[in-house]
Amino acid sequence: MNPTIEAMLTKYNVTRQTRDFISAGHQKMFINGEFCESDCGETSTVEDPSNGCPLMTVPRGTAADTDRAVAAAKAAFQSGPWAEMTPGDRQNLMLKLADVMEEHAQTIAEIEAIDAGKAIGGCYEVDILSTIGHIRFMAGWATKIEGNTREISTPNTFAFTLKEPVGVVGAIVPWNWPLNMSFWKMAAALAVGCTIVLKPAEITPMSILYVMKIFKEAGLPDGVINIVTGKGSVIGNRLAAHPDVNKVSFTGSTPTGQTVGKAAVEGMKHLTLELGGKSAMVAFEDADIDAIVEGAHASVFFNAGQVCSAGSRLYVHKEIYQDTVDALASSLKEVVIGDPLNPETTQGPQISKGQFDSVMNYIGIGKEEGATLAFGGNVVDREGYYVEPTLFTDCNNGMTIVQEEIFGPVLTVIPFITEEEAVRLANDNIYGLSGSVFTRDLSRAIRVTKRLETGSVCINAHDIVDVAMPFGGYKMSGIGKDMGKEQLEHFLETKSVIAQL
Ligand code: NAD
Repeated sequence: MNPTIEAMLTKYNVTRQTRDFISAGHQKMFINGEFCESDCGETSTVEDPSNGCPLMTVPRGTAADTDRAVAAAKAAFQSGPWAEMTPGDRQNLMLKLADVMEEHAQTIAEIEAIDAGKAIGGCYEVDILSTIGHIRFMAGWATKIEGNTREISTPNTFAFTLKEPVGVVGAIVPWNWPLNMSFWKMAAALAVGCTIVLKPAEITPMSILYVMKIFKEAGLPDGVINIVTGKGSVIGNRLAAHPDVNKVSFTGSTPTGQTVGKAAVEGMKHLTLELGGKSAMVAFEDADIDAIVEGAHASVFFNAGQVCSAGSRLYVHKEIYQDTVDALASSLKEVVIGDPLNPETTQGPQISKGQFDSVMNYIGIGKEEGATLAFGGNVVDREGYYVEPTLFTDCNNGMTIVQEEIFGPVLTVIPFITEEEAVRLANDNIYGLSGSVFTRDLSRAIRVTKRLETGSVCINAHDIVDVAMPFGGYKMSGIGKDMGKEQLEHFLETKSVIAQL
């Protein structure tokens, strides 16, 4: 093991399972219930973003590996233990898998924190515990899938609809919530009886591979979940185009989503696209400034700003503009930048050198465009890919940093005077993933909420995410919903049946 990694595992006294998993130095992918190598024998290296050291290697899967995984998923869907399970059996199996995850929660959190550079406290709560809750919520839906009867006008008939699982789901997920996003796709798919081939992001495959080990021991039937590691352009492409994949569920950037979407439509597949965002927080003169600050820390300053629904554009009424900027700047002094495994840490590194360079490039553009740095803006002087939390004032909607998704801890603040102006500015963006309204005036809160062109809105908070509520974007932020009971429809076909009596 790399000495830096070894020292870190010892310093933070990780679980024996975390140490064993990482010290193995290589983990295989998971197809048809077996851990296996890629057919080409090649591997990719996963690195630790807090120091840039290699952590481990995983197979660099190929199109042929993807085909094997799809064949396994298709076979498991059509026959065998999974295909024969009743909804109650599926529910019970999912609940058992959630229990097993809970037993291993600390280990999974440590592996995720190391691989994705996440601060361990938030990672344990948000990435791991919420994923377990998510699986339990969706498990309950397995027994509640229903078609209905219809009174039709054709004489002497009996008509009803059947709800049937679509079949094999190709799931493609990003690196910012590796485990979370995997189960945002898989839990609903499993609940309705689908089988899955999942492609984790190339740089964050570790937590899901660990979870497959414990799921296998817990009795997950072969072929129900298959994990193919490797490049998006190879595996993701093949999944999106594969004739035996019936549904593609993708989370990632808008440009990649467009490519995946084209291939999926070509193959006439069901499709969900959860894409990028540049969400607005709108704060009126009667807003609670502490709530605005909290909203920023819960989104654009959480997970090092690598949050799709981050409130990265803040529009504040002129009357409270300066007080809000001062409160935000002062709160940013409290951010603790450090090792992901340190429980004191609130901000870890950016996920990779590429993301780090991209965020620093945007900060440079912001300065060139004339925005004022009210806080941060610098590289943190330590190993790894750390960026200071950054606050830009004197911004306007014409600026690149206000229009484009930075995907880092960078907040832009813009003053407004009228409600009309606030709504116009908030909607002046290609994305529409999330948003928020801060005001004590209930009528105004509801009025503005209805006018925001975005898939979800929080009032007096930003980015409360709950599995019971559907999540998905308007405009260039995507098509379809994850979570909520709405998501189940995305994994179901509706069959019309008419019997002539
Ligand atoms: P990305 O688009 O680069 O990659 C996402 C996934 O697609 C990865 O697994 C990648 O390997 C794969 N991929 C890459 N090229 C592909 C191709 N040609 N065909 C098929 N698959 C391919 O995104 P990212 O950088 O990993 O993630 C960040 C983005 O994800 C941000 O834009 C963020 O807003 C978005 N995101 C959205 C949500 C949401 O729910 N809307 C949630 C999390 C992240």
